[in-house]
Amino acid sequence: MQALQIFGDRDLRLTEVAPPPPPGPGEVQVRVRAVGLNFIDVWGFRGMAFAKRKLPLTVGAEAAGEVAALGEGVEGLAVGDPVALYGAMTCGRCRACREGRDNLCEEVGGVMGFHIDGFARERVTMPARLVVRVPAGVAPEQAACAPVAFGTVQHMLFDNARLEPGETVLVHAGGSGIGTTAIKMAKAIGCTVFTTVGDDAKGEKARRLGADHVINYRTERFEGEVRRLTKRRGVDVVFEHVGPETWNGSLLCLKRGGRLVTCGSTSGVSATMNLMQLFQQQYRITGSFGCRIENIRQSLDKMAAGMSPVIDTVLPLHAFAEGLARLESRQVFGKIIATL
Ligand SMILES: [Zn+2]
Repeated sequence: MQALQIFGDRDLRLTEVAPPPPPGPGEVQVRVRAVGLNFIDVWGFRGMAFAKRKLPLTVGAEAAGEVAALGEGVEGLAVGDPVALYGAMTCGRCRACREGRDNLCEEVGGVMGFHIDGFARERVTMPARLVVRVPAGVAPEQAACAPVAFGTVQHMLFDNARLEPGETVLVHAGGSGIGTTAIKMAKAIGCTVFTTVGDDAKGEKARRLGADHVINYRTERFEGEVRRLTKRRGVDVVFEHVGPETWNGSLLCLKRGGRLVTCGSTSGVSATMNLMQLFQQQYRITGSFGCRIENIRQSLDKMAAGMSPVIDTVLPLHAFAEGLARLESRQVFGKIIATL
C-alpha cells in the first residue's frame, strides 16, 4: 500500500510499504481517507523533531477514515463506520489515561507522524480506544480537522482557559486552522472576539466568521488596539500560538487576573517576560498540547450541529509538501487537508 514518508529534512516521498497486520484483540483497522496538515508537520518536515525518530517515518498527525476491520472484543464500532483518530499513542493504563486526561499520559509512545509513524498511509491499525466514531453528516475532510485543530481549541478554550459566555478573547492568527476554529467556538457561546491577521483580505474573512474586532498586526500594534478597544481594561483570555513575536504584547492585552493559554510558538521558542507584571497582574498562563479524546467527541458533535471547519485547500496526498509550504508561508485561511 502507499504511504507518504519523510526520509530526511524536507525530503517527503510517496512510497510502497507493507500493509499493517490485521487488528488484534481490542484493535481496529482503519482505511484512512483524509489527513489534516498542522504546524507540527512543518516542524517535523524542517527536521526539528525534539525526540529521536527513526527515518523514514510516515507523516500525518491528524486523520479520519472508516473502519475496515475489527479485532476481537471491540464494541461500539462496525465495519464501514466513519471515524476520527487520536494523534498520540497513549498507554491506556496510567492514571492520566484512566482519568481521561489522555494528553498527560505518563507512558506516551509518541505523537503520530512526528515521533512515530503517522496516518498518511492507506491503512492503519490502532487500539480501538483511540478511534472515535464520527456522527452522521460530517464529511471525512471535516472529521480530519477534529483530532488536532478542533480538539486542541476545545481543550485550550474550555478545559484550560475556562472561557465563559460573554467574556472577551483575543485570538491570534485568526486565519490559521486553529485561529478560525477558535473564532467560531468563542462566538458560538457569545464571546466578544478580537483577532489578529496579517493582511486585510484575511481580516475580511475573519469578520465573516464572526470576529468582532479585526487587527492587522502588520499595520497596527495589536496590543495598543486591544487596549484602546477595551477602554484599557484588557481581555479575559488570550489564545496564543505565535510565540516570541507576540508574547509580551499578548500579556499587555490581558486584564488583571486574565488567562493566557498557548499551544504553539511558530515564530520561535524563547521569550523573556516581566515577572513583576506576571504576579502583580495575577495572570494565569497555561500551556496546552493536543487534547483529550473526549475533546474530539465534543468537536465532532459541534461539527454535526453545524460548526463546519474552515477548509482552505483539499490536496491529493502526493501534494502534501505543497500544503506544508503554504502553511509555512502563512498564505492560508483555514485548514489544508490531504485526501487519499
Ligand atoms: Zn497513559
